[in-house]
Amino acid sequence: MSLLADRFNRESELAAALLAAFARLRADLLAGKPDFFGFASDVTAALRNSLAATFAAAGGWLAVEMAGTPTGGDGRITEAMLRTRGEAYAAGVAAALAMKIANDVRFGSATMLPIGATDAQRQSSTAQLFTPARAQSIAITETTRAISAGEDDVAALIAVATQLAVTWFWEIEDERACDLCKELDGSERPGVQPPRHPGCRCRKRYAMKALSGRI
Ligand SMILES: [Zn+2]
Repeated sequence: MSLLADRFNRESELAAALLAAFARLRADLLAGKPDFFGFASDVTAALRNSLAATFAAAGGWLAVEMAGTPTGGDGRITEAMLRTRGEAYAAGVAAALAMKIANDVRFGSATMLPIGATDAQRQSSTAQLFTPARAQSIAITETTRAISAGEDDVAALIAVATQLAVTWFWEIEDERACDLCKELDGSERPGVQPPRHPGCRCRKRYAMKALSGRI
């Protein structure tokens, strides 16, 4: 499976898990007894599993890619190690993000409704907060972020092991990338990390080089 196909699967699985959490909260809201704490827990669990696995997989891809270069990778980077590091990454990110989504939904839902809203208005307003498009957008952005973090983590480990400097070049997913991202394509260390905007699937292409001017 290509890396792109793999990441599409990861996004779809995460989007489906988020949608399931959205559906549960929507049913609670319509019944007049929303459980935002339960919702945050559902979203945390969905994100945590997915982001830990994606972080570890991305680190693994980079370790393999670097092992094939003359500078060499590091055989000590194992799957178990990547999994542990992925779980550490995902735990904090998922909890913070789940809280943010829960708050967006809670305050969004309150402010979007006029006083004395009818049941129909409440239903339609609530439904807008839980669209598949919203779940998909979160899934794409967070998958991109986890890939970027997993690769950075392994790149740093390899840099320490090889005593070489790590650099990276921006790489667009394909020609459907937005004009802003296309501009960065192929440039070294642009100073921003993917995702650059919601829905960004850009990635980094790493290279190692000898350190110069060391003190
Ligand atoms: Zn992009």
